[in-house]
Amino acid sequence: MYSDLMNWAQSVQREELAAWIAAHRENPPGALFEAADALRRRVYGDRVFFRGLIEFSNICARGCRYCGLNASQTSLHRYRMTEAEIVCAVSAGYRRGFRSFVLQSGEDPYYQSPRLVSVVAQIKEQHPDCAVTLSAGEMSEALYRALYDAGADRYLLRHETADAEHYAGLHPAPMSFQHRMKCLRTLKAVGFATGAGFMVGSPGQTDERLAGDLLFLRAFQPHMAGIGPFIPAKGTAFEAEPAGSANLTVMMVALARLMLPLATLPATTALGALGGRDRALLAGANVLMPDLTPPHYRADYKLYDGKAEVDAQVDQMVREVEALGLTADFSRGDPLG
Ligand code: SAH
Repeated sequence: MYSDLMNWAQSVQREELAAWIAAHRENPPGALFEAADALRRRVYGDRVFFRGLIEFSNICARGCRYCGLNASQTSLHRYRMTEAEIVCAVSAGYRRGFRSFVLQSGEDPYYQSPRLVSVVAQIKEQHPDCAVTLSAGEMSEALYRALYDAGADRYLLRHETADAEHYAGLHPAPMSFQHRMKCLRTLKAVGFATGAGFMVGSPGQTDERLAGDLLFLRAFQPHMAGIGPFIPAKGTAFEAEPAGSANLTVMMVALARLMLPLATLPATTALGALGGRDRALLAGANVLMPDLTPPHYRADYKLYDGKAEVDAQVDQMVREVEALGLTADFSRGDPLG
């Protein structure tokens, strides 16, 4: 029965949750994973939603200290797909059966503009039966609204950490925790199915802060939550920091499932890079995002090191899902809550 653990997760307070994480981080109880898996199956069945990921620009104006694409990375080869290339990549995915796409990028001023609105409108015109998710950072309310009005269905903007001091340690000014929170509230108010989330093991993270991240998710009730391990990226301030733990990440996914029964939760690419993707799919996660970025751009979209090598092929991912006794689902896969 998962209901006892679910009731606990729905009501536990911060101090107790932090102590629980500290006590179990090395050896999480199997009952947690079983409860998260049972709940996921009851709400969503055995389907794993496939979303085609298109990384349309790695140009970025921000200074996020953990990110391999941040503005001060000088040795990185920068690219920006044209509007036509983005629409083509979606159409190619459509022909392979995808009906759900995630358009992700650095915070590229060129596309933080009506140009992205135009891309969304073109995709929706050509493929009205597809869900379009954007993951392109902080923008004005007016632009978020224009993107939504053009037909974008969902928006992913991880909160990264729910602790203002920790946030400031990860993101130099002018980025601010207050503004990130404002953007998340705006996205929800505009009407997007909204995604939040955080990295596990980011420098400065503590068990108290991790507990705070989960409780933020519980309070905000996003429709989606991306939880992946921090992986050091060359050339960044954090290049020598240790990676986050795959085990701890899976534990966070399971706890997030118990707190967000109706949300869709990806088994993230970063977790896949550390070999934890299957475990996440059996502990509450129900989304995979194969990389459909045209191959000649892919190698340059390095949020962290080793990523180009882990780009998994769609067929292999389908087999992986089937080997777990789950079903690959290429539909829109709307979040239920
Ligand atoms: N620029 C957009 C989308 C790209 S970044 C945005 O900021 O929302 C997408 C996510 O990748 C970030 O939210 C962050 O949580 C994650 N990420 C960035 N660098 C990472 C790293 N070194 N290790 C693991 N995840 C990272």
